[in-house]
Amino acid sequence: MVFLMFNQVFDGKELSKNMKTDKNVNKKLEKLFKGISKEIQIFLFTDPAKNESNNSAARLIISMIMEAAPDIKLEEFNLEDQLAHKFDVKDSPTLLINPERFNIRWVGAPAGEEIRSFIEALRMIGLNRVDLGEHSKKIIQSIEGKCDIKIFTSPNCPYCPIQAINVLKAAINKPELISLEIIDVLANPEIAEKYGAFSVPQTFANENLIAHGAQSEELFMMSLKTMEEQRIFIPESDAKEVKTDLVVIGCGPAGMAAGIYAQRSGLKTVIIERNIPGGQVAITPIVENYPGLTQVGGRNLAEIMAAHALEYVKIFPGEEVIQIYPDDQITVLTNRRKFIAKAVLLATGAKYRHLNVEGELQFAGSGVSYCSTCDGPLFKGKKVIVVGGGNSAVTEALHLKNIGVDVTIIHRRDSFRAQEHLVKNLYDNNVPIIFNTELKKIEGSNHVETIELYNNKRKKTARKQVDGVFISIGYEPAVELANKTGIELTDEGYIKHDSKHRTNIKGIYSAGDVEGGYKQIVIAAGLGAAAAMTIFEDLINP
Ligand code: NAP
Repeated sequence: MVFLMFNQVFDGKELSKNMKTDKNVNKKLEKLFKGISKEIQIFLFTDPAKNESNNSAARLIISMIMEAAPDIKLEEFNLEDQLAHKFDVKDSPTLLINPERFNIRWVGAPAGEEIRSFIEALRMIGLNRVDLGEHSKKIIQSIEGKCDIKIFTSPNCPYCPIQAINVLKAAINKPELISLEIIDVLANPEIAEKYGAFSVPQTFANENLIAHGAQSEELFMMSLKTMEEQRIFIPESDAKEVKTDLVVIGCGPAGMAAGIYAQRSGLKTVIIERNIPGGQVAITPIVENYPGLTQVGGRNLAEIMAAHALEYVKIFPGEEVIQIYPDDQITVLTNRRKFIAKAVLLATGAKYRHLNVEGELQFAGSGVSYCSTCDGPLFKGKKVIVVGGGNSAVTEALHLKNIGVDVTIIHRRDSFRAQEHLVKNLYDNNVPIIFNTELKKIEGSNHVETIELYNNKRKKTARKQVDGVFISIGYEPAVELANKTGIELTDEGYIKHDSKHRTNIKGIYSAGDVEGGYKQIVIAAGLGAAAAMTIFEDLINP
């Protein structure tokens, strides 16, 4: 699985270090590119005076891939070359793949998370195969007009490859109608600014914003067809059927631990995840309290866990559960297929809490963000505020400070509820703190420019000029599916369960943040393991 292969690689320097130390990378790449039947031609356009670190990162990444896949050929040209004029290339670096057949270009180096989409693009082209779901195939076949797609991504964003692979599938499937530019916002801040893309990924088609964030393949195809963002996809009822013992919904620490424990105890298990494996962990900048790992990037920890889980279970990423039909055999209907299982474990985790102030929705993606890992680098050297006083807000503020963002933290009380160690770090790093203050309004023209703050001690309102607002005020349990299924919730809105993680519906269990309690990675993993053991006892060894 390409998604889970690489450690994070942000720039040429880190990449070259990785190349020398990680001997497994070459082997994994060879395996991925096995069976390539077509020669792949990559044209790299560079100007040494522009973005040289990205130019060399692009060369390094391609040469690493070429070592494992000799059918890939690279030619490099200057921006003055006539081929640059022929293909209308103006930015350095720009990569074109088989440009006589496809209209696909990377503007910037496909570094960091974007390596995943780049490899997938080369594989699809080299194998001459685009794996589209049945529904997506039908939708894309019905597209008749020309589409020029632009997607804005960043090397730090774990969600970006999901959407980039969606758009690549479309561009490779219909080269005569669909052209694609994958634009790295860090290498090309002026293009991102022109489109008002202050969060990633954002997808434009024929200059319309058609998707904000990563979508499932089907939702993206629908958005492309209708030229506006689609949020619901109802699959046809004759979906393909998969029989299993246990379906785990949610691939965060709880879901993955449950998968490992269930399968090892003898239950045939699958995990369905609407996004990427890892859940909230995948976008946590740094984790320092997971036993055994003194300090680890959240994304890395998510990958370590997912690689472990994949040793035992099949994970279905980018797949969304639409409905659960409880019965002796439980049916779980997703946007792609139907699972028939003896038990279902809801490990759906939690989602960002919104502030619900004026301007929050309007400027989401245009200066308002909930993910410093994904969007933080876009605000390097700019002024932002982080709202919140818990562990997440302090971690995000420290991360932003660390990557060169001019960050201030704003909290409605006069002290933080975050752990002492984190708060000390905040003071040690001289992050400005504004206590007793509430964010009331976010304003701007096409992106965030000003915020209105209210000091609840002095009862005074003030305005502050900022470029970005990171909202980090906790999480709410993700219980839409539980609600739809008729599962009882507690007064606080979490899934109600007995001490063995059984819900009110026979055969349906819960684990992790969706149950409430302490939200810690190690606890979620423990709860997942405990739920899996109960399910084993209930099903196999009652
Ligand atoms: P949290 O602990 O629930 O803190 C939320 C913060 O946002 C609080 O300071 C709260 O203020 C503030 N807040 C809530 N609603 C607000 C509103 N409408 N306006 C302004 N401020 C508002 O959430 P979190 O920091 O996202 O953490 C979530 C969970 O994950 C926690 O259990 C946390 O311990 C855990 N976590 C742990 C780590 C770690 O162990 N290193 C790291 C990240 C997260 P008040 O204080 O006034 O209520």
